[in-house]
Amino acid sequence: MKTTLIRQAEIITMNQTEETFTGDVYIEGDTIKDIGSSLSYPEADHVIDAKGKVLTPGFVQTHVHLCQTIFRGKGDDLELMDWLKKRIWPLEAAHDEESVYYSAMLGLGEMIRSGTTSIVDMETVNHTGAAFRAIEASGMRALSGKVMMDKGDEVPRALQETTTGSLQQSADLMAAWHGRDNGRIQYAYSPRFVISCTEELLRETARLSRMHGTRVHTHASENLGEIDIVEAETGMRNVVYLDHIGLATDKLILAHCVWLDEQERRIIQERGVKVTHCPGSNMKLASGRADIPALLNAHVCVGLGADGAPCNNNLDMMNEMRLAALMHKPDHGPTAMDARTVFRMATIGGAEAMGLENEIGSIEVGKKADLVLHDLYDFHTYPSYDVDTISRLVYSATRADVVMTMIHGRIVMEDQQLKTIDKDTVLREADSSIRRLIGRIPELAGASVPEYDQLSSHSG
Ligand SMILES: [Zn+2]
Repeated sequence: MKTTLIRQAEIITMNQTEETFTGDVYIEGDTIKDIGSSLSYPEADHVIDAKGKVLTPGFVQTHVHLCQTIFRGKGDDLELMDWLKKRIWPLEAAHDEESVYYSAMLGLGEMIRSGTTSIVDMETVNHTGAAFRAIEASGMRALSGKVMMDKGDEVPRALQETTTGSLQQSADLMAAWHGRDNGRIQYAYSPRFVISCTEELLRETARLSRMHGTRVHTHASENLGEIDIVEAETGMRNVVYLDHIGLATDKLILAHCVWLDEQERRIIQERGVKVTHCPGSNMKLASGRADIPALLNAHVCVGLGADGAPCNNNLDMMNEMRLAALMHKPDHGPTAMDARTVFRMATIGGAEAMGLENEIGSIEVGKKADLVLHDLYDFHTYPSYDVDTISRLVYSATRADVVMTMIHGRIVMEDQQLKTIDKDTVLREADSSIRRLIGRIPELAGASVPEYDQLSSHSG
């Protein structure tokens, strides 16, 4: 079993007492075996001298779409329903096995490079096996699933599926991938959002989740236009409807939750539903500001995520932490969402949202070795004297300061060099894939200038 000793790092443990100290971490296989101020393991296969550097738990992004990474820059300056119907759905419909694979690799490379070690990922309708193959090869820890959408207007033909077909494909993918690599890869049922799903599909998903304990990952209450449609179709608020059909449980991960009312917040709190905050995406799509401080006050588990590359346009947790810390202060005052609260969301909070708080999210003996080393010896992160290191990480540091990423005990980036992903190949294939996809969509071929459709954007 491969062993690694990381020596003399400033360790931000994020354990129960949020202890920080300078010391060593010893890793055997995929697990942290020992932590101390001066460990001696002369037989370690690999020793990392981390003197002067900061070791943190790897970042957990609880909402991303790997299949959309090659759409980066293809959906700028649109609001949600236009963004979906004019850009994202046609592009997803044009995907093939290879383009999904390289789109996933592009996103995985970006995230490993910026210190993300776990993701909750939603794929497209087809070719999800290719995304799982990329996840497997990259070394990323992931909870992922094919998107389910058995209804909806203006959905391209290739994304239209039947209720039974959607459920069967999900079951097949789950059988093939859930639990792979000693649990590193897990499956989540992933209905796109209420608008895209029949009640039958959602009820069956809820039943399967209850029966197998499977997690369910979906979007909810992202945009005012979206919740109007849900209310018109179901007569209920979005989260009330999810509760009505049995989906609101502690296995449910809800992305966005921008437009909740008091009753919906109470359902989320009482059922133990997990929420993902996506500040970059919510601002870029002009969706609104989720009241995250209120959810945290109600002890709701909130994780952080970049969402897809075409609505952000990065998958960078350092950036997302900074946005999460800043965007709520104008409404809630300067002490809202302090650096420590945000850092907790990015690590142990995300782990809890995935149901993995006993395995990842903090640096503790017995936990999986998902670790990130930051080099804060630079102009933009100094002075260091008497400044809380977590403040430096959230407010000053960037992805350029991430020097080593370890997932499941395996070093996937060292000295800023990716070990599992060939950068030149992935960048080349990402370009050739998006060129091929655009060639399949006549309406997009000349659409590099974004247009803002005033008529279909919501009046609110
Ligand atoms: Zn999303």
